[in-house]
Amino acid sequence: MMRPFTSTIPLEEARRLLNEAARPIVRLDRVPLEGAGGRISAEDVSSAIDVPPFARSVMDGYAVVSSDTAGATRSTPISLQLVERIYTGHMPVASVKPGTCSEIATGAPLPPGADAVVMVEETAARGTQIDLFAEASVGQHVGRRGGDIQIGSVVVRTGDALTPSRIGSLAAIGCSKVDVFARPRVAILSTGNEVVEPGRSLEPGQIFDVNRFSLSAVVAAHGGIPEPRTSVPDSIEALSRALDDCAQADLIVFSGGSSVGERDLIVDAVAARGRMIFHGIAIKPGKPTAFALVKDKPFFGMPGNPTSCLSNAYILLVPFLRAMARQPPFIPHVTRARLARRISGPVGRHQICTVRLAGDAAYPVFKGSGEITSLSQADGYVEIPADQAGAQEGTIVDVTLF
Ligand code: AMP
Ligand code: MG
Repeated sequence: MMRPFTSTIPLEEARRLLNEAARPIVRLDRVPLEGAGGRISAEDVSSAIDVPPFARSVMDGYAVVSSDTAGATRSTPISLQLVERIYTGHMPVASVKPGTCSEIATGAPLPPGADAVVMVEETAARGTQIDLFAEASVGQHVGRRGGDIQIGSVVVRTGDALTPSRIGSLAAIGCSKVDVFARPRVAILSTGNEVVEPGRSLEPGQIFDVNRFSLSAVVAAHGGIPEPRTSVPDSIEALSRALDDCAQADLIVFSGGSSVGERDLIVDAVAARGRMIFHGIAIKPGKPTAFALVKDKPFFGMPGNPTSCLSNAYILLVPFLRAMARQPPFIPHVTRARLARRISGPVGRHQICTVRLAGDAAYPVFKGSGEITSLSQADGYVEIPADQAGAQEGTIVDVTLF
């Protein structure tokens, strides 16, 4: 039986419902620092040490008693007696007393008695007599103990994204493992009798599966673990079994089954296991998108058309997944451009029109919902709100970049 869509909800309503349904993950992983980049910390990590752990020189030069250097210039150098050479990784043995100095490498511990470093460029050595050509103030070119991170201070907090610099600060305090929130496991499955895995050969009437791959790439890029499944044919038995097989996943994303003839299969399979939250959004492309709770597990039913599927993955699935994964919201780059050709479109549906940028001009390149090149040959998209019919050539538009 073929039933057309009777109602759709506005995009904003779909976003609100998704926002309401998103539950941040509570499961944890303990991961080595090497693999922690991009993860979300699940602990407050405080430092058990001072960083640096000792006062050190930040220049190659001579450790001195700063008061010895008063009045030193190129024409009136001050001469000090060299007592030691201090390399990195070793503790100095001699103290620096007035009238003496120690040669010191960048990163080497400051010797007792010294309170400043004169850089080598402002000195000249005559055997063990060192001439200084400049004054040094107290603390000059010295890295204080704990000057970077103080013992007891918090380096990373729960919920912080582990950026390269935060990974670096964890390494600096000697931390080798960190508790992070688990990445949501996302079951991805394409439906359709005609859908075949790339790498096989096509029989008449078949097409290669696009959505499984584009969805997996989106999921991996936004904090999830894609768990692609083998595609299933359009039968209530196969769909039901496939849904049950996703019990281990945190999020289930099916695509296809949105044609009027097939749609009821997904609806029925979901209805027997949970609750449809919405089915049908006033958006173009991507109207036949569904969201449900299947045994309390979030379920997206994406359109089969590859551009509709991926476009809605960007605007609906990504924010939902990131909220689940506790990733900060994704803020795409937006640029302004002049529309090179008019965009026509229906009033009453929020429209996503893909464009290609050339200089300050935006060329609409949207071919159709089924054509993946509508997206792959575009630089970004222009949004036309539901209450507008389209946009005139020459209009200055905001282009959201991919
Ligand atoms: P459906 O939503 O199942 O009615 O599919 C709509 C259109 O998208 C049909 O032309 C399907 O053949 C096509 N389609 C469905 N699923 C996929 C897929 N995974 N990869 C590529 N095209 C698909
Ligand atoms: Mg289908």
